[in-house]
Amino acid sequence: MKYISTRGASPAVSSARAVVDGLAPDGGLYTMSPSDMPKLDWRRLISMDYYSIAAEIISALLPDFSRDEARDLTGRAYNGKFPSADIAPTVPVGDKAVLELFHGPTSAFKDVALCLLPYLMKSAAEKCGDTGTITILTATSGDTGKAALEGFRDVPGIKIAVFYPRDGVSAVQKAQMVTQEGRNVHVCAVDGNFDDAQSGVKRIFGSIRGRGLSSANSINIGRLVPQVVYYFSAYASLVKSGRLLPGAPLDFCVPTGNFGDILAGYIAGEMGLPLGRLVCASNENNVLTDFLRTGTYDRRRHFCRTLSPSMDILISSNLERLLFLMSGDSALVASLMRQLADEGRYTVPSSLLEKIQRRFWAGCCDDEGTKATVARVWHSLSYLCDTHTAVAWNVAEQYEKAVPDHNPIVVLSTASPYKFPAAVLSAVGGVCGGDEFEMMSALEKTTGVPMPANLRGLRERPCLHNDCVEPSQMSAYVLDLLEDES
Ligand SMILES: *Cc1c(COP(=O)(O)O)cnc(C)c1O
Repeated sequence: MKYISTRGASPAVSSARAVVDGLAPDGGLYTMSPSDMPKLDWRRLISMDYYSIAAEIISALLPDFSRDEARDLTGRAYNGKFPSADIAPTVPVGDKAVLELFHGPTSAFKDVALCLLPYLMKSAAEKCGDTGTITILTATSGDTGKAALEGFRDVPGIKIAVFYPRDGVSAVQKAQMVTQEGRNVHVCAVDGNFDDAQSGVKRIFGSIRGRGLSSANSINIGRLVPQVVYYFSAYASLVKSGRLLPGAPLDFCVPTGNFGDILAGYIAGEMGLPLGRLVCASNENNVLTDFLRTGTYDRRRHFCRTLSPSMDILISSNLERLLFLMSGDSALVASLMRQLADEGRYTVPSSLLEKIQRRFWAGCCDDEGTKATVARVWHSLSYLCDTHTAVAWNVAEQYEKAVPDHNPIVVLSTASPYKFPAAVLSAVGGVCGGDEFEMMSALEKTTGVPMPANLRGLRERPCLHNDCVEPSQMSAYVLDLLEDES
C-alpha cells in the first residue's frame, strides 16, 4: 500500500516516507487510496490486549512496519508512561460508555499518538535511509504541544519546536509547555490564534523543503494511525464485558477540532469495525456542524475563545482527508482547498454530502451548555469530566433525541478535568478563587477525584521558554533553528 496526496499532484510514497515527511509536497495530506484500505476481521481482535490490537492496526496501515516491530515500538512507547496496560479504558457512565483517553503523561488524548510517533518516525527515517536531523514543527491549541514535547524530548537525531497562540491556551496548558525540560525542545508563543499558528507552520513546510522538517500535528498520518487502535479496543471491551452484542453497530461521539480523532474512527469503520455513526461534537466554533449539515464549509466567521480551547479551530485540516477518502477525487479536493484558501469557503457536491451524512451526525454546544453538562454528569452520575468531554456528552444527548434509532454510544473523553480547573470547578459548584493552580487543589478537595501526578507541582517548576513571535516571523525562527547545529 502506497500513500498518495489528497491533492493528487505529488508522487506516491511508502508509508515510512509519509511518516517522515508529514505533509505532501503539493500541500495535500498523505492518505491511502480508498480502494487500498486494509480490512481486518474485528472478531480476531476481541480477545487481544491493547498492544496486540495496536500491532495489528499499525502494521496494516503502515505496511513498512511488521507486526512484531509495531508491537515492540508500542510497548516501548507506552510502558511506564501509562498507569495500566489498558491504555484507553472504556467505562460505563449512566446509559453511555466513556472512552478515557487521558491517562498518559500529559493528561490529554494526544499522548496516545504522540508517545508512539517519535518511535515510528525514528524507525521510518532509518527505513528511508535518512540520516540527518529531523526537526519537528508543531502548532498547538494547547494539548498537542505538551504531548509532543514530552514524546520527542531528548530523542537523538530529532529537534522539536512548538508554536502556541499566546493568549489562546489555559494557564495550566501554558505552564506545562514553558516548563518543559529537554535538550532538543523549543517552545514559542505566536501573537495570534491557533489558525494563525497552524497556517504559519503549513507555510513553512511549503517554503522550506528538503531540510528534514516534519510535523507532529495530525496532518501526519503517523499521528492518526495510533488513534485508530482505541476504536477497536473500545468495541472489544464492550463486547467482552457483555455490554454489546458481537457484531452490533456502535456509535461514537467525538469532541472535534482538527478532525483527526474522528477521522481515525472513520478509518476504523472502513477497516471493518462494526461502526454505526460518528457524531461530531463542536463548541461555539461550529464550522463543522454547519458543514456536516449543509455541505458548505465557511470559515469566514468570528473566532470564539471557549471553555474547550483545544477545539477552538476554524480550519479543520483532516476534513481534507475525509473528502478524499469519500470521493476518491483528488482534483475535486484540490479545487475545494483552493477555494478555502482564496475565498474562505467551499461547498461539496450533494452526492458527496449525502454520503458523508450517512456516516456522520453533527452538533454543537456553547459554554453555558458545557458547564451545565459538567455539573449534571457530576451531580447525577458522579463522573467528573473535562470541558471537551462535556461538549461531546451534550452533543451525544442531542443526537440521541434527534435520532431515535441510534446505536449504543461511546463518548470519547479527551482530557483530564484537571487541565481545565477553573471551568470545571465553577461548574460543580466549588468556590473559585486564586489562580488555576489553586483551583486544581480546590477541585480535588471538592470532588475527591485524584489529580493526575504529572499536574501536581506544576506551578513550582521554573519557566524555561519565553520566546514570542508574530506569525510573519515564524519562518525566520525556524530557519534559525535549522542553522543551529547544537
Ligand atoms: C486536540 C483535542 C481535541 C480535538 O481533537 P482533533 O483530533 O483535533 O479533532 C479534543 N479535545 C482535546 C482535549 C484535545 O486536546
